[in-house]
Amino acid sequence: VVTGDLESRLSLARAAVPRLTELLAAEAASVDTEGAFPEAGLAALRDSGLLGLLVPVEHGGLSGTLTDLVQVAQELAGGCLSTAMIWAMHCQQVDTLVNFAGSELRERLLPRIARGEVYLASVTTEAAKGGHLLTSSAPLRESGERLALDRDAPVVTGGRHADGFLITMRASPEAAEHRVSLVYADRDQVALEFSGGWDTLGMRGTQSIGMRITGAVPTDQLVGPPGGFRTVAVEGMAAVGHLAWSACWLGAARQAFGDLVGLMRSPGGRQGVDVNSDLVAERIARARLDLELTSAYLNRVREEVERLRADGSPLGGASTQIHLNTLKVAAAELTFEAVDRLVQLSGLARGYRRDPDFPMERRFRDLRSASLNYANDRLLTVTGRLCLMDRSVDLA
Ligand SMILES: Cc1cc2nc3c(=O)[nH]c(=O)nc-3n(C[C@H](O)[C@H](O)[C@H](O)COP(=O)(O)OP(=O)(O)OC[C@H]3O[C@@H](n4cnc5c(N)ncnc54)[C@H](O)[C@@H]3O)c2cc1C
Repeated sequence: VVTGDLESRLSLARAAVPRLTELLAAEAASVDTEGAFPEAGLAALRDSGLLGLLVPVEHGGLSGTLTDLVQVAQELAGGCLSTAMIWAMHCQQVDTLVNFAGSELRERLLPRIARGEVYLASVTTEAAKGGHLLTSSAPLRESGERLALDRDAPVVTGGRHADGFLITMRASPEAAEHRVSLVYADRDQVALEFSGGWDTLGMRGTQSIGMRITGAVPTDQLVGPPGGFRTVAVEGMAAVGHLAWSACWLGAARQAFGDLVGLMRSPGGRQGVDVNSDLVAERIARARLDLELTSAYLNRVREEVERLRADGSPLGGASTQIHLNTLKVAAAELTFEAVDRLVQLSGLARGYRRDPDFPMERRFRDLRSASLNYANDRLLTVTGRLCLMDRSVDLA
């Protein structure tokens, strides 16, 4: 009975995704223009149960899989890439809690997430050290039964709207920068001071603002071992992030491609594009090739991660890490390249000019963020070193 109930709740939530995607699409132009947070989109996601997609059924969630995550992320991103990334990053944090939080924190927090009450934000970037995931400068300080924190956070997606934060901190004032702890803070346990805006080229709806977070949390809100964030990142947060972000970028580029094909097939929409031209055909084929390669590699790496997790095997092996990093870098580059080609094909009137009904230029601006949203350079330099350890050249 419980399994049947879960299946029907999961399929109801999945069935709501096309309607949600339409709602996100309707809000996308205004959040982009105004740099506003997609409040209607997040409210609908809360109501849909999808904030709890990865929460296990025993905590009231949908016990969704990484396959579900990747599919839903792609669909939502067809409506609005900013909102899809907000949701995908939230799910990335949920997966981290499910796999690494202690049982007391899981029992307190996961049912609230499943009910749509808690939207989670991520705090890893820091002014002193930039984007580097595996170091932190601001220390956690023990104060009785609590852990005190004072953290600058220059880029926090949805920071103003989040109900909880997963924050990387140096393990203690004496610890080296690479001894990083991950800690959960509920919004009402901390004081938030917002600074700076988010006036960016793209991903404007993520409202990834700067903030300072101060306060103290109970010691059981450490997620993973003290100073042991590297394991949490490698076995969970970064792996799921790369899958979910790549799915979002692919979903946005795929929708742009579908929109252009639709336009070219409509008698009034061609606007001087000769669909019988070999040059046009070659250009469409090249954009499709970028999408095909991203989709195939995403599914291949997702299968590898699901298989290893099901076997209880680590994701930290050199070849799996190479595959996960390669996925992020390739998806960032290929989806942007595909939309760049589509802008050229669409021309000035349809591709380059701002048009809320045919948002090619918004997708182009949004996808330009992909190689920065965790710098491709950082991943490539790690991957290059890992390649020297993988003598068997174990390809995905
Ligand atoms: C849409 C969006 C949402 C985001 N949301 C969040 C969020 O919610 N929470 C959060 O904490 N952060 C968030 N970030 C920040 C993100 O995680 C990265 O920290 C940030 O994008 C990196 O900034 P940066 O380009 O200055 O690169 P950094 O990683 O700070 O690096 C600075 C420069 O050095 C280069 N570089 C780095 N390492 C090397 C190397 N080994 N060799 C050569 N060059 C190198 C980089 O390419 C870059 O040009 C978000 C970013 C974006 C774009």
